[in-house]
Amino acid sequence: MKITVAGTGYVGLVNGVCLAEMGHQVVCIDTDETKINTLQKGVSPIYEPGLEGLLKKNRKTGILRFTMNPQEAYSNSDLIFIAVGTPENKDGSANLDSVFSVSYSIATHLEKDVIICTRSTVPVGTNAKIEEIILRLKPPPVHVDVVSLPEFLREGSAIFDFFNGDRVIIGASSSEAAEVLEELFLPLSMPIVKTDRNSAEMIKYASNAFLATKISFINEIAALCEKVNADIDEVANGIRMDGRIGAHFLRAGIGYGGSCFPKDTKALLKLAGNVEHPFNLLKSVIEVNNKQHSLPVTKAKMAAGSLAGKKVALLGLAYKPDTDDIRESASIRIIQELLDEGAKVVAYDPAAIPNAKRYFGDTIDYTLDITEALTDAETAIIATDWDQIRHLHPSVFAAYMKEPIIIDGRNCFPLDKMSVEPITYISIGRPALI
Ligand code: NAD
Repeated sequence: MKITVAGTGYVGLVNGVCLAEMGHQVVCIDTDETKINTLQKGVSPIYEPGLEGLLKKNRKTGILRFTMNPQEAYSNSDLIFIAVGTPENKDGSANLDSVFSVSYSIATHLEKDVIICTRSTVPVGTNAKIEEIILRLKPPPVHVDVVSLPEFLREGSAIFDFFNGDRVIIGASSSEAAEVLEELFLPLSMPIVKTDRNSAEMIKYASNAFLATKISFINEIAALCEKVNADIDEVANGIRMDGRIGAHFLRAGIGYGGSCFPKDTKALLKLAGNVEHPFNLLKSVIEVNNKQHSLPVTKAKMAAGSLAGKKVALLGLAYKPDTDDIRESASIRIIQELLDEGAKVVAYDPAAIPNAKRYFGDTIDYTLDITEALTDAETAIIATDWDQIRHLHPSVFAAYMKEPIIIDGRNCFPLDKMSVEPITYISIGRPALI
C-alpha cells in the first residue's frame, strides 16, 4: 500500500520505518525542516534502539521517503497516519492544533479515496471532528474514512513494540475501513480489536491512566513502607505474584514522566471535568506523582543538610532508560530544585545530554563519564535506571565521591550489596542505610 505518515517524532518515525520494513511504500511528512533534512541523510533525529538501521536500509531502497511537500504526501495515498504531537494546554487539555492543521492540509491536497488513521493520542470525539473538517473541505465523490488507531509503543523498545505489541485497536465507523486496517496488521500476528471510534479513543487514555495509577499506588505503598519499616521490593514481589494484579508497573521510584503519562492523565481529567464527572482517583494519581518528583532533593537535604555550594552528581536525565527523551522527566524538577538550593550539578546520561542542554544550557555541567560525575561529589542522585548505572559496582561511589550520600530514585541496587559499603544509601520505600 501507499502510506503517508504525518509527523516524524517518536511515533511517526517508528511507524514510517516499520511500515516500510513491512514492504509498504511510505512517505513521511513533517513541518520541521531540520528533521526532514536529517532524515533525508538517513540519520535519525532521535535515539531509539534499532531505528537508525531500519531507517538507513529502507531509505536506500527508496521504499521510505521524507518530504515537507503536502501535495506529494497527501494527494495519492491509500492510507494516511496522523502522528503529530498533542501536547498539554495550560488547562491540562490536549492541544489539537497540529492534528487539525494536518487535517486541513490533507483535505486541501486529497485527490483520491483514502483512509485516515489517527495514531496521535486524542480526546474522545476528535476523530469525528477530523472527519467533519475533511468532509467540509473535500465533499464526495472522494471517499474518506477516519479511523482511531491508538499507538501503544514504548520509547526505548518502540521497534519491538510495533512488531510485537499486545494488541491493535481499530476504532472505525465503517466495516470496510476496519477490514483494510485488519489486513494491514494481520502479518504481525497480534490480537486485533475492532471497536467504535469513541471507545478506541478512550481505550488509549484509560490504558495510560491505569498504568499511571499503578505507579502512584505502589509509590504510596512505598511511602508507607518507609514509615513502618517494611521493604517495598519485598512487598511488590509479593503483590505481583497475584495474577489478578499483574506483574508490571509495580516498581517504586520517583514517579512517571515522559511525553505521555503526565499529559494524558491531565487530558483525561479535563475530559471528565467537561462532562461533570469528578474523577478524584485520577486527580490523586497526578498529585502523588508530583510529590514523587520532589522526593530526591527532599531526601538529599535530610541526609546532607544544606546543598549550597556542594557538587551533586545527577545520574540520568532521560525520563526512562533507552531513550533521549527528557519531556516531563523527573530529572527536570530535580535539577531545578538543586539549582534553587545553590548546588553545583553535574549530570550524566548516555543519550539525553543534547536534549537537556537545550533545556538547561550551561546552568549545569554534563558528562558522558559516570566516574567524572561522581568525582568529589557530595551527593549522587539516581534519576534514571540506565543499565550503565544499574551495573555499576557498588564500591564506585565510595571510591570517587567526597562524601558518598546516594539517593537512589529507582532502587537500582540491592540493599545487601550497598550495606557493606562505607556510604549513606537512601532509596525509595526501603530502609535507609546510614
Ligand atoms: P513528537 O513531538 O516527538 O513528534 C511530533 C512531530 O509532528 C514533530 O516532528 C513535529 O514537527 C511534527 N508536526 C507537527 N505539526 C505537523 C504538521 N502540521 N504536519 C506534519 N508534521 C507536524 O511526538 P510523539 O512523541 O511522536 O507523539 C505523537 C503522538 O503520539 C502524541 O499524540 C502522543 O501522545 C502519541 N503517543 C506517543 C508515544 C510516545 O512514546 N512518544 C506513545 C504513544 C502515543
